[in-house]
Amino acid sequence: MTRPEFTFELRVCQWAEREWSPATTATAESDSAVFVARQLGTRGRRWDTLVFECDPEGLAARSVFGTERLDSDLLHVVRNAPREWTYYRDALPDPGYPWRYVRESIHEATDRGILDQRRAGNRIEIRRKWHYPDWLRRIVAIENKPDLDASAARVLGDQLERDVALALADEVWVATRAVGEESGGVEPALLERLPVETGILAVRTDDGPTSAEVAWHPSSLAVDDPGTRILERPDGGDHDESAARFEYADPEWKHAKRLEIAERAYERGWRSYVDTMRPDCRSFELRDDGDTLPWCAAKGHSPTARECSGACPEFGPEPPRWRTHGWPIEGGPGKGLKRLLERQRARRRDP
Ligand code: SF4
Repeated sequence: MTRPEFTFELRVCQWAEREWSPATTATAESDSAVFVARQLGTRGRRWDTLVFECDPEGLAARSVFGTERLDSDLLHVVRNAPREWTYYRDALPDPGYPWRYVRESIHEATDRGILDQRRAGNRIEIRRKWHYPDWLRRIVAIENKPDLDASAARVLGDQLERDVALALADEVWVATRAVGEESGGVEPALLERLPVETGILAVRTDDGPTSAEVAWHPSSLAVDDPGTRILERPDGGDHDESAARFEYADPEWKHAKRLEIAERAYERGWRSYVDTMRPDCRSFELRDDGDTLPWCAAKGHSPTARECSGACPEFGPEPPRWRTHGWPIEGGPGKGLKRLLERQRARRRDP
């Protein structure tokens, strides 16, 4: 990822956190609680920015299960755990994989304090602590392309057609840098290369906090219907007679996958970029120009996560005295910045 794309992505995440939703669609509910994550998706597809519209009460009820995500195995146990003590094999649906993995998940859930477990003879019985709520309403996927030219739009158009056909997210958007004032600040010729179901955001980053206008409204996708996974498609050349290959994604798979993605997003948010950067470097700062961005004082720009890593030749550790007596923040400024971002991340989970 180039530097402008990474920085642009962090700005879009912050704009979405402040402003969502820019276009209230027929299915969007205006009282939704919203949180934002980045770089999540399926094994074959990762979206840049994701917005999760949640039932506020459901989101509050989800919080009793802790900030760590529940993976698909834990969800299977926690969502199906009974009110009364029951032998686990009688309580849980057949998982479709060996029961020993279910027992491991039961132990893990018990260790995390989100399930009751006891022994009755040589049997394991379980009982739920809380009802796992129905907290997720909608997922909105945003692809960030600050400098959208004709060839980028063509490649992106192909990818977005796959997203629309699968309909795993309720809406798919492209966020691009606004140019001029026409068509909401986006070249009309570029709009034609993107699927008509895709929304387009014209984003302005140059004056104060990031703002965005809707250049094209998206369609709501049929997330409860079977989706189509496009595996291969002809290139469309004169001599290309090959057929497209595709397979169906059933609604149960989609429903489970959406919840898994939402759980990962709930844990990570979008500020997790700092986990792979070097806030312990003496040149690392957070700067606020309306949006908060990582800043490298040595290089004089906002670095990418890849650039600001252990391999950075200009890395300089914080002087030891920053971490001990001479510095007012326990653990030094790097640790202080991480804690600050973690506190902000935690606040966004509260509806
Ligand atoms: S010098 Fe390198 S490691 Fe230090 S803040 Fe800058 S980019 Fe990050």
